[in-house]
Amino acid sequence: MAQPCVNGARRRQRTQLVLVVPAGIYDHKGGMADSLVVNEIFLSVQGESTWAGSPCVFVRLTGCDLRCSYCDTAYAFHEGKRRSVGQVLSQVRQLAAPFRLRLTKLPLVELTGGEPLLQAGALTLMSLLCDMGYTVLLETSGAHDIRSVDGRVHRIMDLKCPSSGEMSRNLWSNLDALRATDEVKFVIATREDYEWAGKVLEQHALARICPVLYSWASPSSAIHGAGQLKPGPGPGECLTRQQLAEQMIRDAVPARFQAQIHKLIWPVETRGV
Ligand code: SF4
Repeated sequence: MAQPCVNGARRRQRTQLVLVVPAGIYDHKGGMADSLVVNEIFLSVQGESTWAGSPCVFVRLTGCDLRCSYCDTAYAFHEGKRRSVGQVLSQVRQLAAPFRLRLTKLPLVELTGGEPLLQAGALTLMSLLCDMGYTVLLETSGAHDIRSVDGRVHRIMDLKCPSSGEMSRNLWSNLDALRATDEVKFVIATREDYEWAGKVLEQHALARICPVLYSWASPSSAIHGAGQLKPGPGPGECLTRQQLAEQMIRDAVPARFQAQIHKLIWPVETRGV
């Protein structure tokens, strides 16, 4: 990994990295690959995945083409400003500076959304962050091809369960591209979701490929998305986190139970955490 920015020489080297941005590539919205539409950038605690609990800079990108029933970031569907990749890198570096001065590999940097893979600039940004020595995570819906993502990035990919309302968007060919450094996440709200996830896990032997996450869907998840999301299950249909955890143990499911840590720390409606 790159060492922290502790002297002028290192600073100059990083500045040069920022300038090595492939130009002239355009995303599906006509944006250039050296810029992105960004909803928010913040430093917090990673709340999910095998990386949960570690400090992490989040780069939340604007836009998503899905409308999952439990989505808790509907504010990122449209809100955002276009920023150059260099500007984003600069803000990440600023937020990470206190950790990097301690010669740690932390914080992590995660691209999330929205759906980061809708913007070509996200690919550029991830590669440059890897070049700079960060451990880079990508949260993606699983509806878009993950093969173009830099091989150094840890891809955390959803497989959408029935209660999401977006199961038809799962891009099954992505399973062939998974590596041991990736993670597959099922967001589980109902018993039907649980049974569906179990079948998929078994049919594709997912636990032999990479860590598998069973993420409990809080009934209060979709607080920001009223009226924009796919219909979800009624409260009576939802598993409690205790029911999900106990069922996983009973069935010896080869997956990791997770609840979203940041929602235990901060009120669920809090942004930027
Ligand atoms: S939860 Fe679904 S709708 Fe919300 S950002 Fe993720 S993929 Fe998009």
